[in-house]
Amino acid sequence: MTLVHAYAAPREAAPLEKTTIERRELGPHDVLIDIAFAGICHSDIHTVRGDWGGQQYPLAPGHEITGTVAAIGSDVTKHAVGDRVGVGCLVNSCGECRNCQRGEEQYCSNGAVGTYGAVDRDGTITQGGYSEKVVVTEDFVLRIPDALALDVAAPLLCAGITTYSPLRHWNVGPGTRVAVVGLGGLGHMGVQIAHALGAEVTVLSQTLSKKDDGLRLGADHYYATSDSETFRSLRGSFDVILNTVSAVIDLRAYLSLLDVGGSMVCVGAPGEPLAVNVSSLIGGRRSLAGSNIGGIRETQEMLDFCAEHGIAAQIEVIPASAINDAYERVLASDVRYRFVIDAATFAD
Ligand code: NAP
Ligand code: ZN
Repeated sequence: MTLVHAYAAPREAAPLEKTTIERRELGPHDVLIDIAFAGICHSDIHTVRGDWGGQQYPLAPGHEITGTVAAIGSDVTKHAVGDRVGVGCLVNSCGECRNCQRGEEQYCSNGAVGTYGAVDRDGTITQGGYSEKVVVTEDFVLRIPDALALDVAAPLLCAGITTYSPLRHWNVGPGTRVAVVGLGGLGHMGVQIAHALGAEVTVLSQTLSKKDDGLRLGADHYYATSDSETFRSLRGSFDVILNTVSAVIDLRAYLSLLDVGGSMVCVGAPGEPLAVNVSSLIGGRRSLAGSNIGGIRETQEMLDFCAEHGIAAQIEVIPASAINDAYERVLASDVRYRFVIDAATFAD
């Protein structure tokens, strides 16, 4: 086992601290990755603040990882030393259940292994990408296309796939009227991807303060949800609403914006329940749905799609020492549009 520098939460809701974590020795199918960048996802914050329930500490978050292959196990065939690679929210799954068989490892019936805070196959608790190196079984390592720099590619591993997968599943394309609620890490990827798929894209943000950015990212329209006129004027206007909000919102107001037969897909995952009155659904044969990241095959497809369409994350690169400040800014919706940690600073 190898000790590597990392940033981890020592206990629930505590600031992250510089520490060291253990990485296992390379097994035959393992890849050792020298991490270059790790994105900060709002899920990292929910997790270490206990929004989603208890965790084992210390816990190093981070599931938007890019870097370079430093070594491979004896039986690895998919990656070679020097390859530019990424790791997202999953590092293992059973590989045998119906969901794994069809490439949807995120819905593994036997429990997919998350990149951090999950019980790994060997019984240890996984530790995430806020660290210098990671060891991952080859099937869960993605290839980063040459057209994507490693820093702007990192957020694609979670924010990119989490928005790409539902947009594809709900057949978003030319003629689809899509609203993206929340212009944060996920939202700013959702806008770019929906636009590249040919949809008519509307951003529904709390204020108009990021309107220029939203339009530049590919939105056709931009409205403030703090203005009640927005909900009156957009009634029945959308086929798909992608909700990326990290907090509780009034579903009834948003469902009224769906046309007959429209779907509201929640990817934002606040710790508290969202209330729904079924009449909001019945009145327009509407659907309320959720979606969890994406499988490995689809994540590679998304990376290739982004490279082909010139899509990447808008980022602010920070040193590891700024992680706790970045968390506060994410919580205050003051992120444009993803913080990415420079992994060279974990040892500083
Ligand atoms: P983020 O960067 O903080 O973006 C969330 C955005 O939601 C904010 O930028 C803000 O947009 C809006 N918002 C925040 N508080 C709000 C409030 N009280 N009312 C209305 N809007 C509010 O977070 P993220 O990293 O994109 O993650 C978003 C959510 O998705 C989190 O809950 C995260 O855990 C979840 N997530 C889910 C999956 C999945 O697989 N389903 C994967 C990754 C993340 P405006 O300023 O534009 O209003
Ligand atoms: Zn995430």
